[in-house]
Amino acid sequence: MSDRLPGFSTLAVHAGAQPDPTTGARATPIYQTTSFVFNDADHAASLFGLQAFGNIYTRIGNPTNAVLEERVAALEGGTAALAVASGHAAQVVILQQLLQPGDEFIAARKLYGGSINQFTHAFKSFGWNVVWADPDDIASFERAVTPRTKAIFIESIANPAGSITDIEAISTVARKAGVPLIVDNTLASPYLIRPIDHGADIVVHSLTKFLGGHGNSLGGIIVDAGTFDWSTGGKYPMLSEPRPEYHGIRLQETFGNFAFAIACRVLGLRDLGPALSPFNAFMILTGIETLPLRMQKHCDNAKAVAEFLAGHPAVASVSYAGLANDKYNQLARKYAPKGAGAVFTFSLKGGYDAGVSLVSKLQLFSHLANVGDTRSLVIHPASTTHSQLDDAAKVKSGAGPDVVRLSIGIEDKEDLIADLEQALGA
Ligand SMILES: *Cc1c(COP(=O)(O)O)cnc(C)c1O
Repeated sequence: MSDRLPGFSTLAVHAGAQPDPTTGARATPIYQTTSFVFNDADHAASLFGLQAFGNIYTRIGNPTNAVLEERVAALEGGTAALAVASGHAAQVVILQQLLQPGDEFIAARKLYGGSINQFTHAFKSFGWNVVWADPDDIASFERAVTPRTKAIFIESIANPAGSITDIEAISTVARKAGVPLIVDNTLASPYLIRPIDHGADIVVHSLTKFLGGHGNSLGGIIVDAGTFDWSTGGKYPMLSEPRPEYHGIRLQETFGNFAFAIACRVLGLRDLGPALSPFNAFMILTGIETLPLRMQKHCDNAKAVAEFLAGHPAVASVSYAGLANDKYNQLARKYAPKGAGAVFTFSLKGGYDAGVSLVSKLQLFSHLANVGDTRSLVIHPASTTHSQLDDAAKVKSGAGPDVVRLSIGIEDKEDLIADLEQALGA
């Protein structure tokens, strides 16, 4: 073996996986079992007491899922990861470790529509209060900090317009406030941006999107950067205080720089229950093997489509950070030099009606609520994903009435452009 550290594409294929020790199977098997036999009574007791690592029950951990966890932790440069049933489940599990009822977290206003809903309504019923800030105005994050602030949440490439967030600037605010920075890296994937390299303490993904990549399996994952000191000021009792569930152990003291991932597993996943099916873990692992190839093609196609749209007479504006004259192009060059992602928006001179009409005329693009599929996708956010917002909030979050969102797939770019041309012209 050479002592060269493996590169990203090598990790995407190999990290976390070994040939199966009993059968020699080279692809990671699907361990489709609910539970695992203990060696003896002492072994069982040590697993339950967190004195030994091992398999107990698939709600808490599974060998197929463990390969996925190790692989994504390696790709993101984290210490450990926890896979769960969906991106939304990952967000619940993260915040459950950080917030007590009555606490606050600051979130960027430009977010996936489902996250805006989850934060505004579902989390409110847990007593977790979201305070919105503007990712284009770093000072708005500083102003939002209070003694009850427990975390800051942003997207690296933000929905719906594919804008690029200045992760380092916001991580400086988080450090000053003594709270962890959580980065939703779904739209970038670690191939384009590794938020931990820019100061993120926790990375979260909807695996449903580019990591799985084929639009066939839901999943979510939490990556622990191992960078945050949870003992400061008694702010994070789930991590720093003795846990009655586990004979009084303190997770930070026992598990050090992967204590957050452990907390998410043994306090979050174990008790809330959103376990990832091993079958989905297998599908997502298979997807990740081609992530570098797919992501580059997604980005190259997106740039070509954005350039076509920018020159079309029916189009009022295109918001794609990969275009040289885009507001976010400087940030894209810094954070995502390989490409600015494949999800972006454009607006039509004909407004709301033109947006609805375009969506109905496209043939190769599928009209649906998803992103990060091999197939190209289209949606009109104002009438769908962002319809719950009032008009002002729609505009602020980048989903005004005239805006159409695309997620560009890996088809031939000429075919995508031809489809848009017929739909815009007809
Ligand atoms: C889809 C998505 C989510 C939610 O993930 P699910 O797997 O659908 O629960 C969160 N954040 C972003 C950016 C997403 O695109």
